[in-house]
Amino acid sequence: MKVLVPVKRVVDYNVKVRVKSDQSGVDIANVKMSMNPFDEIAIEEAVRLKEQGLVSEVIAVSCGVLQCQETLRTAMAIGADRAILVETAEELQPLAVAKLLKAILDKESASLVILGKQAIDDDCNQTGQMLAALARLPQATFASKVVIADGRAQVTREVDGGLETLSVSLPAIITTDLRLNEPRYVTLPNIMKAKKKQLDHMKPEDLGVDVTPRIKTLRVCEPPKRAAGVMVPDVATLVDKLRNEAKVI
Ligand code: AMP
Repeated sequence: MKVLVPVKRVVDYNVKVRVKSDQSGVDIANVKMSMNPFDEIAIEEAVRLKEQGLVSEVIAVSCGVLQCQETLRTAMAIGADRAILVETAEELQPLAVAKLLKAILDKESASLVILGKQAIDDDCNQTGQMLAALARLPQATFASKVVIADGRAQVTREVDGGLETLSVSLPAIITTDLRLNEPRYVTLPNIMKAKKKQLDHMKPEDLGVDVTPRIKTLRVCEPPKRAAGVMVPDVATLVDKLRNEAKVI
């Protein structure tokens, strides 16, 4: 059983992003880029399934610029067996990524795709769901536990007020939540080993997918600055301000 794990190269979560002066987006020149944290969890889960003998091959896939190779090498250092880069300089939106992944899924005949629940740069939370729709496969999103047995995946999801457990037939699409696992640290010997693993390159045209953006971003702006607070001498003044100035009581 093959597992496909899409991994996205995003601005590292420790970076404080800055909006470009023309409000066309976020400035990503010279900022640290890393694997989307939810995708690290996805790779870790796939590798653990392989370690349990439930999976024969873990294939990492990334769509984007040539530097996504670094993200794929990290995925292989965690334990993915090989990787595929779908290279394009075009700005990729979730529908385009889902179409590319659908084409690779067909090509590889994978039994499971484990994606992150969302990419921390666009916060779209769409790709897994769109892929499930395009591939007409069952989906279990926001997984906090995955058990594979008898051709099915039992997936526990964190929902408001408790846990929901679903059973989906394979092949299926799963997206990871934060508490699914804690990804292992990448060791130097594994980084070295990953350099020798197979990394295939292709272009969207090779997969017959048109990745032209469908959505236009009109404006990106910073949140409004918070006004400074004031110290009040007593509770009576606070209540008076809340009632007469803020008008919240
Ligand atoms: P999103 O729908 O953009 O929030 O992304 C959800 C998930 O889809 C991510 O966690 C990745 O697993 C996958 N994904 C999104 N964009 C890409 C990409 N360019 N390359 C590979 N995987 C991606």
